[in-house]
Amino acid sequence: MGILVVFLGRTHGGVHIHEDKLTVTSPALMWVKVKLIHLISSLIIHHTCRKKHPLRLDIIVVLHAYCFCMLISICILGVLCVQECFAVRDSPVWMDSSTSDQCQCLETAVGGAQRLADITGSRAYERFTGNQIAKIYHSKPKEFSETERISLISSFASSLFLGDYAPIDYSDGSGMNLMDIFEKQWSRVCLDAAAPQLAERLGDLTPSTAVLGCVSLYYTERYGFAESCNVVAFTGDNPGSLAGMRLQEGDLAVSLGTSDTVFLWIRGPRPSVEGHIFCNPVDCSAYMALICFKNGSFTRERIRDECAGGSWECFSSALRATPMGNNGHLGVYFDVMEITPHFAGVHRFNAEGQRVSCCKRDMEIRALIEGQFLAKRVHAEKLGYKIIAGTRVLATGGASSNKDILQVLSDVFSAPVYIIDVTNSACLGCAYRAVHGLEAEAGASFTETLRNAPEPQLAVRPAPGAQEVQIHNITIHIPL
Ligand code: ADP
Repeated sequence: MGILVVFLGRTHGGVHIHEDKLTVTSPALMWVKVKLIHLISSLIIHHTCRKKHPLRLDIIVVLHAYCFCMLISICILGVLCVQECFAVRDSPVWMDSSTSDQCQCLETAVGGAQRLADITGSRAYERFTGNQIAKIYHSKPKEFSETERISLISSFASSLFLGDYAPIDYSDGSGMNLMDIFEKQWSRVCLDAAAPQLAERLGDLTPSTAVLGCVSLYYTERYGFAESCNVVAFTGDNPGSLAGMRLQEGDLAVSLGTSDTVFLWIRGPRPSVEGHIFCNPVDCSAYMALICFKNGSFTRERIRDECAGGSWECFSSALRATPMGNNGHLGVYFDVMEITPHFAGVHRFNAEGQRVSCCKRDMEIRALIEGQFLAKRVHAEKLGYKIIAGTRVLATGGASSNKDILQVLSDVFSAPVYIIDVTNSACLGCAYRAVHGLEAEAGASFTETLRNAPEPQLAVRPAPGAQEVQIHNITIHIPL
């Protein structure tokens, strides 16, 4: 069985930042010409030349990395490079932040940010598709009226392989501010707030595990794909990553990189104005949540430089030399405006909950790390996450190489921490999804399908007494 995973990754230089510095687009044709056709044809030709026999592909899963919205009108003719097919030649990408007005209108129309989150899993975000569509509807009414179909890059890419319009999958569809994530259908009130006759233009939604059909004749005749080559629903990069990390029920993955990201597997989500809830890409009855924190490694590096002479070894020694709970000393270290919560500044508290301007270096280091992980736990629980027996914390990213940091993570969550190598986790996840897509038809769960895949490695367990450590309640008043 051959599996092809095409990762439409960060296109350095592939985006166009407009004069207002807010609008960011990519040429629509780029997605057809450059990314798909060249990648696939070169891969097949390269393989055929080397191995002297044609590559047969049985499953295709493609994911997109960062493009959340694309407005297109395509006629699927088996002919791909047709510029005229696109109603709008530049598709907005994830970096676009030009739709504040549309976000405000959408939240007002549904009854506020929390109400929108209750329906779609997220409050209004500028890069989300519904708000991008609303902008195009108002700024380019002629093009909008000529648009037959609106696709995400993920569903657009699968359309190219199918030779027909492909549906949007539940998981990527959750990042549009248009879908009712509980009903798994378009939300009438959100559609109406964005643009008229949107349901027809968006088409149906589909489970992320669905097999959509076989590749079109174009691929079998021109590139030698097997006629039986199935196309499994395409999805976005974050759902792809969850699959790649093989998160299971109750698991939580923490990526400790430049920014920190928390992925959660949730059964009973409680959407909030902070964080995102998505339909789960590998289990239709579950959800995933995503919480991003901007103050990650840069803040850890600043404190390392100020309190540990720039050495991770000294930083680690300080963590080992200080007790769990830091004798009641806590800190909030938002060097830059944080995403979750929207707040900036550095605030230290002593054991009595009073603000203090400084503390001992070792304590500062522990206060930072405990504070960062406590924030992750608090926000995860706000979204409905529950630590259960058997919960695993999967750690990844640069700082996951530091065992003393992982020990604090394990103590704060009272759960064992495992390390996973998730280089290109989104690609790997889509390969897993492809195999599961076929087996899911016969009722196999994602975990059953991947029973032979390599397991994450246990790194640390919570220290005895971690669960009993009490943290006092602190309310921080934001100065207006
Ligand atoms: P990115 O988000 O850019 O992919 P990475 O996941 O590669 O980032 O993480 C890079 C970060 O890892 C560096 O900025 C550094 O602060 C951090 N890092 C590397 N080694 C250690 C260590 N031993 N302890 C703590 N943090 C570390």
